[in-house]
Amino acid sequence: AKETFDHIKENEDQVKAFITLNEDEALKRATEIDAQGIAADQLMAGVPLAVKDNILTKGLTTTAASKMLENFNPVYDATVVEKLNNAGYINVGKTNLDEFAMGSSTENSAFFTTHNPWDLTRVPGGSSGGSAAAVAAGDVLGALGTDTGGSIRMPASFNGVVGMKPTYGRVSRWGIIAFGSSFDQVGWLTQNVKDNALLTALISGNDEHDMTSSLKEVPDWAAQLNENTTVKGLRIAVPKEYFDGLAEDVHDVIKAALAHLESLGAIVDEVSLPHTKYGVPAYYILASSEASSNLQRYDGIRYGFRADDVKNLEDVYVRSRSEGFGEEVKRRIMLGTFSLSAGFYDAYFNKAAKVRRLIAQDFEEVFKDHDVIVGATGATTAFKIGAEIDDPKKMYMNDVLTVPVNMAGLPAMSVPAGFSAKNGMPVGLQIIGKAFDEQTIYNTGYVFE
Ligand code: GLN
Repeated sequence: AKETFDHIKENEDQVKAFITLNEDEALKRATEIDAQGIAADQLMAGVPLAVKDNILTKGLTTTAASKMLENFNPVYDATVVEKLNNAGYINVGKTNLDEFAMGSSTENSAFFTTHNPWDLTRVPGGSSGGSAAAVAAGDVLGALGTDTGGSIRMPASFNGVVGMKPTYGRVSRWGIIAFGSSFDQVGWLTQNVKDNALLTALISGNDEHDMTSSLKEVPDWAAQLNENTTVKGLRIAVPKEYFDGLAEDVHDVIKAALAHLESLGAIVDEVSLPHTKYGVPAYYILASSEASSNLQRYDGIRYGFRADDVKNLEDVYVRSRSEGFGEEVKRRIMLGTFSLSAGFYDAYFNKAAKVRRLIAQDFEEVFKDHDVIVGATGATTAFKIGAEIDDPKKMYMNDVLTVPVNMAGLPAMSVPAGFSAKNGMPVGLQIIGKAFDEQTIYNTGYVFE
């Protein structure tokens, strides 16, 4: 365990993946585990893993990368963390993110930007950029992320790691700092597909604390990943819209990946998901609306940050929120509150909700006669730090290939498919499955290892 931290600290000078390192506690746990021996049911005994800093960890500061929660110390563990504790894992620390998971580059963190370990001048993607960078840098075997509109898959693609967003309802959201509650899902960023399957099964399942968590049984996905795993006869749909605006270097890698699948016996078909282009505008209205409601609780009284020298109660609210939230979070609160307001509800929120339904129907149509949908995860490789941060609309467009999945509540994974011929950066292939069919996604991704 000591070596793990030496390695992490060496990387951290440059990568800055962690907001909080849990060194003392982690070394204590490691010593305990050494002394006690490993119980048969402790699947992750002594395994160093990391947790995104919008997931509650009892007694360990959880900031959501916001000044608002800079000194927030949770009094309970998220359900996913509780399950990891029971499995004997070692939490090495809390990873950096865009404030409240709002962003696509980790540049919206209130504290610092994480750097992509493949090229330190580039972003790690977001919002789970710290988790992706920690895995890519070899700090940990896996790191927990959250995905509301692509925040696991996109950083996975930018960092050459595996990132799975499970089906909505597969994993409990209890103890996750809420962003867009009807979209949020927890999942893993890992070095390979099999670890991902194993770890995802570990955190999945019904939870009495989360009414939206599914009662469906959790299969042993990893057990089916072996030398017999095949994509022979698999019906793969490739949406033509997923090639619109794709950078040439990404395009080449995706084409090669599709050829690889075909050479292994998969049947690759071109299909259409006609409402894809409405995904980003509708998502930003809906997710921001939910966020504006979820973030009401940060009032300067109950949690964390409170402004100094306030005159009265109104002043506490206004100044604490004005000073405690960053620019992007405030932009979302304004957009969400506006979309939900009496005069504009029908024109914006309601319209966007209809688009959501149409997008879900697009998927249903294609899944009638296909097993998985495959395309790029991001339209580009990791961009340079600073390149897009001043242009929110440009930043939002990075999510065009990932948000439809969250709108429909489907599972999807990004697997490393190759490298850009232009800049040598990793390129991720996105594999989208039917609801609760994570198995077929894992099987498909497994052939790229
Ligand atoms: N980039 C998207 C956003 O900013 C998605 C974020 C996420 O999945 N948490 O909303």
